This record gives sequence, structure tokens and C-alpha cells, in this order.
Amino acid sequence: MHRGKLVFIWLQMYFPKDIKKCGLFLSGGIDSALILYHLSKLPVEVYPIHGYDINASEMDTITVAQNVKNWILMDGIQKKDLKAKIHDIFIHPMDYGDKPKYYYMRPARKYLEQRFAVTHWVFGTSQGMPGDERPGNSMKGKELQNLPDNYNDIIVPWAYKNKQDIAKEYAEFNLNELANITNSCIKSTPVPCRECWWCKERYWAFNSYDGGVQ
Ligand SMILES: [Zn+2]
Repeated sequence: MHRGKLVFIWLQMYFPKDIKKCGLFLSGGIDSALILYHLSKLPVEVYPIHGYDINASEMDTITVAQNVKNWILMDGIQKKDLKAKIHDIFIHPMDYGDKPKYYYMRPARKYLEQRFAVTHWVFGTSQGMPGDERPGNSMKGKELQNLPDNYNDIIVPWAYKNKQDIAKEYAEFNLNELANITNSCIKSTPVPCRECWWCKERYWAFNSYDGGVQ
């Protein structure tokens, strides 16, 4: 099926039509990268926000997020169908061990809401593996869409999807190259550790680790 048609279906399913400006939590992971890809085809301004983990300063997730954004911008330019204006990534410190305390980067969100009239926030969070939930996140479906804290409207496209569903979309949209830019492993090793929960989930869904590594 043609990509444009699929994006249209995606829009109908997940993204309310009247949104002009949204924020997106762009981690450099594979879930939010796919969302940015979809948003880049829609007539919406996107304000990506990246929380760098203050407990893992050796991880260069900022560069990964930038690479994801750059790949999507290039893809759009080449295909001449990039509709969104994707803004610079807003970088904010974050303690991923204590997300509620860090208010999911509320100072940054408030700034973008007040300064640029961002009205919605898009999360890439997806479900864990069946019977093997993601560490530190037991939220499911509806809970993900009703997070604590004083959010404006939240959109969680993958709230009911798991990584295998995400992998299907990557295959459908022919986005293998984008998948290989993203980072899942949480260890700061030159190659994916193959042992952390995130590596296991990646392999479970994509039959390879970060970068397509076997
Ligand atoms: Zn790993």
C-alpha cells in the first residue's frame, strides 16, 4: 500500500484533526521515532522534547534523537511530502528513576505551551512484552492516557500496542533504515548488550538488536 494512504489511516486513528502544534517526547527510541515520522507527514508543527537521563550521563541519547530527526527531515525533503514544521529538539534534564518527581519535564512543557502555544503532548510509550512488562512502568492502555500531573491533552498512539505491532509498521512503511538509527539498549556499550530488558524487547519484535546487530 502507498505510504500516503497509510499515513492518512494513521491520522484518522490516532491524531485529532484540529491540532496545529504538538509536543513530542523524542527519546531516540524506536516508538517515538515512528511517531515523528508520521507527524512529519501531517500539517502540524512539532516541538520535540528530549529528556536526557541525569543518571546516565555517559549515554549520548541526544545525538541519537538528533539523528532520528535529521533522517526524517531528509526523507521528507527527498519525497517532497514533508508537511510539518519540525522544530529544534528541546533538551531537558530528567531523572528516569523518578519521573513523577521530575514532572515529566513540566518546566519545559510549560515553556513550550506558553511561548509557542503547544496544545497537545504525544507520548511514544507502548506496551511491554506479554507477561514481561517494562521495568518501572506497569501502566496499561487507559492509564497511559490519563497520566498524573497537569497535562494538557495527551495523545498516546501506542498505548494499546506492543513492540511487535511497532515492528509491523516499520516493515509496512519500509523504515528499516530509520529503525537502525534508533536506540533501545540502556547500557552504554559500543554494541547493544543483548541482555537488558530493552534489548530483549527489541529482538523479540525486530529479530535484531540496535543497528540491526544480530
Ligand atoms: Zn541492552
